[in-house]
Amino acid sequence: MKALLFDLDNTLYSASRALFNLIDVRINRYMHEVVGIAHERVDQLRRHYWQQYGVTLRGLMQEHGTDPEHYLHYVHEIDVSSRLDADPTLRAMLQQLPQRKVVFTNGSAEHALRVLECLQIEDCFEQVFDIRVSGYLPKPCEPPYCAVLRCLALPAGDCVMIEDSLANLQTAARLGMRTIHVAEQDDVLSDAAVDARVCRVHQVAHVLQGWQSRAGLQGVA
Ligand SMILES: [Mg+2]
Repeated sequence: MKALLFDLDNTLYSASRALFNLIDVRINRYMHEVVGIAHERVDQLRRHYWQQYGVTLRGLMQEHGTDPEHYLHYVHEIDVSSRLDADPTLRAMLQQLPQRKVVFTNGSAEHALRVLECLQIEDCFEQVFDIRVSGYLPKPCEPPYCAVLRCLALPAGDCVMIEDSLANLQTAARLGMRTIHVAEQDDVLSDAAVDARVCRVHQVAHVLQGWQSRAGLQGVA
């Protein structure tokens, strides 16, 4: 395992921080105030875009000609520091991991950097790959994963994807990556695409150590 690909939102910080709710509000406002969609249609259209295109942005681009850069700037204009603060435990864990570490998010790199700065882990990652990596195509579509692998110059088999979204992990697994599902709820069903499950991202080092010692034992046998 040479590289660790971390999702950002609800993975590197807990969903209980409800940071994404602030983005949700901005997306709804954008759809109503900028695109001109009636209030009562916004929720239903967002659901439709999610099912059809993976993220709201793709739906707005395809069906309303939305400028993706304007959208990304608008929806990420939130006060990240009102919900997040430094996470020294996470920082210590990331620093002790010898693998290359990158962030791979469906958001914007600017938002990712603000989040990483609030958590005080921005220097733990060599790069942030955002939704621009493959022409605004989001995870779980395959092209952004392939673009990240090309940039890293690594085969999928050398990478581990760490994510809260099962759909995003399913693509990673299909391409040959190992997967760690960050899921805080107890009632998560097991899935063939998931190699390990943790409640918090802080447990990732423990999982990796377990895999390594098992691989070491097999090497000896
Ligand atoms: Mg996420």
